[in-house]
Amino acid sequence: MLDKMEVVDVEKVIQEFEDITKDAERVQRETLRKILEENGSAEYLLNLGLNGRTDPESFKACVPLVTHKELEPYIQRITDGDSLPILTGQPITTISLSSGTTQGKPKFVPFNDELMETTLQIYITSYAFRNRDFPIENAKALQFIYSSKQFKTKGGLAAGTATTNVYRNSKFKNAMKGMQSQCCSPDEVIFGPDFHQSLYCHLLCGLIFREEIQFVFSTFAHSIVHAFRTFEQVWEEICTDIREGVLTSRITAPSIRSAMSKLLKPNPELADLIHKKCSGLSNWYGLIPELFPNAKYIYGIMTGSMEPYLKKLRHYAGDMPLLSADYGSSEGWIAANVNPRLPPESTTFAVVPQIGYFEFIPRRENGVGQEAFLCMEPKPVGLTEVKLGEEYEIILTNFAGLYRYRLGDVVKVMGFYNSTPELKFVCRANLILNINIDKNTEKDLQLAVDEAAKLITERKLEVVDYTSMVDLSTDPPHYVIIWEINGEVSEDVLKECCNCLDRSFVDAGYVSSRKVNSIGPLELRLVQRGTFQKILDHYVGLGGALNQFKTPRCIGPSNNLVVQIFGGNVLKSYFSTAF
Ligand code: AMP
Repeated sequence: MLDKMEVVDVEKVIQEFEDITKDAERVQRETLRKILEENGSAEYLLNLGLNGRTDPESFKACVPLVTHKELEPYIQRITDGDSLPILTGQPITTISLSSGTTQGKPKFVPFNDELMETTLQIYITSYAFRNRDFPIENAKALQFIYSSKQFKTKGGLAAGTATTNVYRNSKFKNAMKGMQSQCCSPDEVIFGPDFHQSLYCHLLCGLIFREEIQFVFSTFAHSIVHAFRTFEQVWEEICTDIREGVLTSRITAPSIRSAMSKLLKPNPELADLIHKKCSGLSNWYGLIPELFPNAKYIYGIMTGSMEPYLKKLRHYAGDMPLLSADYGSSEGWIAANVNPRLPPESTTFAVVPQIGYFEFIPRRENGVGQEAFLCMEPKPVGLTEVKLGEEYEIILTNFAGLYRYRLGDVVKVMGFYNSTPELKFVCRANLILNINIDKNTEKDLQLAVDEAAKLITERKLEVVDYTSMVDLSTDPPHYVIIWEINGEVSEDVLKECCNCLDRSFVDAGYVSSRKVNSIGPLELRLVQRGTFQKILDHYVGLGGALNQFKTPRCIGPSNNLVVQIFGGNVLKSYFSTAF
């Protein structure tokens, strides 16, 4: 299906999904059998004594749960050029770099044709459901997609972000045509050497084809918001380019210049129209529908760590619907959004049972919560054994050499689509803020920031982005929250924000530690405008891609360069007096 260029038959895809999800348990067994048959000759599986068995019971008895750390020596041998069957039957020739914003450095994970196929399967599944509710035809899409730097590993394997590996694959283009969702920008823009230049030209191409644009997309919502924030800075320059038909001299990449020269013709009417529309907007509210009158929706991952950007995205979107995209990772896709009408805050993801073998570690084993969740011998359950309303850590077995791999995400079962669970993304499992008995996740931080940021939004300002760290150099140690704000706020308001943050971490361990001063007063550090842009530049410089970027929500002490960037940009800092 995916090699041919035919238009996706939406009804057929939905019917197939119905059939597969009605029989999710059998499909899971079948998927595991396929994975283990294809990879039975891999050293990793041979050493574990599977001896060709492919049933879930033997698999679970022989194969241990692992994290990326345990697999690193195997992946290292692969990237160093050892072409023996190490993790997979067929040698791995491509490596994906996960965005690495959580750990501070990108992780290497294997990528292969099967992973490509499953990626397209999930794209097509969610497209079918999306298109049933929000039909598009022969669409052009403004897609903020970028290629990361591609490089060769020591052993000569191609390495780049997972999305780059997908966009470079010829099957991707065919599938996009099949989904009638072609990117309006030429390849030279997507694969340009500098993401600032690519972003500028994506915006320009979007405007050249503005009547034809039927939706606006990026992998993660952050890069859509980032794109329109950039538009606020460069729109007049873009209008000049359109008026004169000449690309600004700031675009220096010859490949991009040459591709853009084929599209850009003097068009004073269009330039005037855009100028008029932009000048008429109040604080850029409703910018996207003004620019793209025929666009039907905005599409991208808007859940989890993307939620903080929703407010700004809604501001740009006006009345245009926001459709949240699927759930997956560089390690493999997991679940599709088959209820695209739900707002991002309520989005769930139906696990696609044939794209991998999934297990779930109950988060509240024995009812004792987090400690049990992090215990040494978790007891995972199968895809169809999960219970409504429960939270789990997700375990992935894929077609590219990851077996019983702890992805590190927590999900909650919100319902079932036939017999496959519909999951809500809860948070990354690791605690990000922890000094002694306190336990705060990325979600806890988000809730605290949301609460304190209300004091700023009352004044028509916003927290552009935020992160956190633990400062162990003081006695007692304390939490540091770092904010970038888009304007001037009085000292009194910021002091109140700082107190509010401190009070908003409601975890009992934090509150009791604060009361006895074994954790010191929370510190709010305000950084200069543009600091988070510098952090983004830093990660892209390490090999990340803009469309896969996630702001690190906690900076570990080992992440020296990022600590330095923040340290060098502090404007003011405040200590809480809340306790
Ligand atoms: P990466 O492989 O570095 O691009 O990041 C993968 C991680 O992004 C996942 O493990 C999740 O933590 C997060 N993620 C991916 N998709 C979603 C989603 N739909 N909602 C929330 N978080 C997501």
